[in-house]
Amino acid sequence: LTEKLSSAFKKLRNKGRLTESDVKEAMREIRLALLEADVSYKVVKDFIKAVTEKAVGTEVLESLTPAQAIVKIVNQELVSLMGGGSAKITIASQPPTVVMMVGLQGAGKTTNAAKLAGLMRKQNGKRPLLAACDIYRPAAIQQLEVVGKQLDIPVFQMGQENPVTIAEAAIAHAKKHGNDMVFLDTAGRLHVDEALMEELQAIKQAVQPSEILLVVDAMIGQDAVNAAKAFDDALDIDGVVLTKLDGDARGGAALSIKAVTGKPIKFVGMGEKLDNIEVFHPDRMASRILGMGDVLTLIEKAEQQFDMQKAQELAEKLKKNRFTLQDYYDQLVQVKGMGSMDELLGMMPGLNAKALEGATINEKALSRTEAIILSMTPQERENPAILNSSRKKRIAAGCGLQVVDVNRLLKEFGMMQQMTKQMTKLSGKRRKGKFGK
Ligand code: GDP
Ligand code: MG
Repeated sequence: LTEKLSSAFKKLRNKGRLTESDVKEAMREIRLALLEADVSYKVVKDFIKAVTEKAVGTEVLESLTPAQAIVKIVNQELVSLMGGGSAKITIASQPPTVVMMVGLQGAGKTTNAAKLAGLMRKQNGKRPLLAACDIYRPAAIQQLEVVGKQLDIPVFQMGQENPVTIAEAAIAHAKKHGNDMVFLDTAGRLHVDEALMEELQAIKQAVQPSEILLVVDAMIGQDAVNAAKAFDDALDIDGVVLTKLDGDARGGAALSIKAVTGKPIKFVGMGEKLDNIEVFHPDRMASRILGMGDVLTLIEKAEQQFDMQKAQELAEKLKKNRFTLQDYYDQLVQVKGMGSMDELLGMMPGLNAKALEGATINEKALSRTEAIILSMTPQERENPAILNSSRKKRIAAGCGLQVVDVNRLLKEFGMMQQMTKQMTKLSGKRRKGKFGK
């Protein structure tokens, strides 16, 4: 995809404002990216329409190509669509807080009931209880007991008793034993069906849970939307746990579900282990869906108004040890604009940013250095060796400083040259393979 995109992007020229044809061109690729990520067709259509309207006529930052500008808008829209809503579990004013896990069979209800219980205990100091309300799936109760045991979280079960009775009894049990949260592990079916929904509605009616979380398997792709809609229509869910994102699913389900139900994704399951659960981050999901992590990073960098070309020229000079006071000056000006020397140097190929870690930048000293270099002639900047004492005096007078300041700068510059020499030597050797990883 990235290849396709970049070829589409190359056709676009930098023009100040995004035209309709710029946007159309890029949107064709965005549309494919979204469909490939399993975002449902209708959601893609609506999304593209909305973003196209927004993008046409937008001013393009000088540092971005039109295509990058479009990707940026698309990314922002994805984030804002999937964001909003809190990724927290509502805590009941009167304990216990009851959380009802619902979803299709195999989605990950049982596993994620345990994961969430563990998370709430760890992060909020809760004392959760797991309740086995799936009386149909063979060995469902035993499975819950196994995960409960692994986390040392108690499990309440009553065999094949009516699930509503079990849920009520579990809450009574929790009150009696000081459990301030109860996670109801309910049954699922392979497909949405009436009987299942009625049973879940009956449980909801009886126990009035603080939170109904729909568990959705990210791998089921577009079917996730239909399931989510059916569960939300029947139960008015509060949020979604999207599981199995450790696989290669691109996570388009997150966008579809949010678009169709309006309910927030609260947590994501990232593996089979019982601590593989994370709070949902819309920005991470957006770049996963777009599959353009690199492009997005690039845009971010470009926006820092960093002149890549200059950096490359500089790197070339460093390699040839042709690093002059003029370069030093140019670099200082950029550093001032960027705020971080580490970052600047880190972006230069062949330079080890670690070596410069902690290099602090003193604004005042920077301005002084800048002033001194500005007082030099181009010839002096290229070749500081010609700086005799009368030249130094002239320079110091020109910038209102002392000759010692000029000398200090020259010493610093000399050290910098020395350091870059060593580093370029080192990176040269490394390239030849003398230093393995
Ligand atoms: P339930 O039928 O909805 O209760 O689903 P289960 O909790 O029994 O999960 C079904 C399967 O999916 C189990 O093998 C789980 O270990 C697995 N599973 C659940 N969540 C995740 C996840 O985030 N990543 C991966 N790789 N597997 C998961
Ligand atoms: Mg289960």
